[in-house]
Amino acid sequence: MHSPLPRVLVLTLGGTIASVPDAKGHHAVPRLSPAELMASVPGAAEVADVRLESFRQYPSGDLSITDMIELAQLVGRRADEVDGFVITQGTDTLEETSYALDLLLDENGPPVVVTGAMRNAGLPGADGPANILAAIRVAVSREARGLGPLVVFADEIHLPRFVRKIHSSSVAAFSSPNAGPVGWVTEERVRIPLLARDRGPTLQPDAVRVPPPAVGIVKLGLGSGPLLPEHTAGFEGLVVEVFGGGHVPSSVVQSLAEVNDRIPVVMATRTGAGELYRSTYAFPGSEQDLLDRGMISAGALDGAKARLLLVLLLASGAGRADISARFAAAP
Ligand code: ASP
Repeated sequence: MHSPLPRVLVLTLGGTIASVPDAKGHHAVPRLSPAELMASVPGAAEVADVRLESFRQYPSGDLSITDMIELAQLVGRRADEVDGFVITQGTDTLEETSYALDLLLDENGPPVVVTGAMRNAGLPGADGPANILAAIRVAVSREARGLGPLVVFADEIHLPRFVRKIHSSSVAAFSSPNAGPVGWVTEERVRIPLLARDRGPTLQPDAVRVPPPAVGIVKLGLGSGPLLPEHTAGFEGLVVEVFGGGHVPSSVVQSLAEVNDRIPVVMATRTGAGELYRSTYAFPGSEQDLLDRGMISAGALDGAKARLLLVLLLASGAGRADISARFAAAP
């Protein structure tokens, strides 16, 4: 007698993966129902007992942090019913939504796997069906248990805290510049040979203020001048994307320090990879200068992920010391 298939709940949020174009291949919008989406994934029913639910039907730029808090709550409520979750959504913000889930869900529940597609359902070589099937395989796998949320894309398995969308159109649009993928899917086999460590503590979705506070993000460039009041109006925190290992033009320093007197300022490298220095340079606007003035280092987090972490920490009531400690806790 066969053992019953593992149960997976696929939660759909819209995006290219759920989009269909007109007859000429243009004007695609998210409109596939979960059932229509799954009809394009032959073989899924042999891998898992698939349940479907529409959670949102948006281009992913319209998803909010509150949506992610509600999604984490839903996953928590339904964890006893299934062996794994698959989240399908747009790729534009997938690196952030998956990280928000990573911050809000501990590793004790069923695996949560986020995926999407670069080519919509009407294009030759649409990648949604293959990504969904791979995501289902990972979500019900023994290998994925205990790791926290994962991103599966183009048969690679990534950790949300490292994964980035690094290409606007390639089907291999996702990469983890600091760490590489931790595993892959080949045929029906799920391989996760690299174990994740130092994930940092998670936050409780039910203890997070909704709507969460606004946090700004400013990217500095050559010749950037001092921050103006309108750069920070209405914000409870600010992320500054700084040069290289943690540097800003000297002309920006005083204005940043003044902002940091009012709200926490977190600095993240604008390079796209690598960790900020702490003790290499000492010129005005260097990493040491900014740290000495009380600014917080995002370590190896990029600006978008640093912003999310700051939003959720502030929404959980964290003070400046807690915020610094949490940023220091995960490389
Ligand atoms: N605009 C789409 C989105 O919802 C792009 C995609 O899914 O790749 O993010």
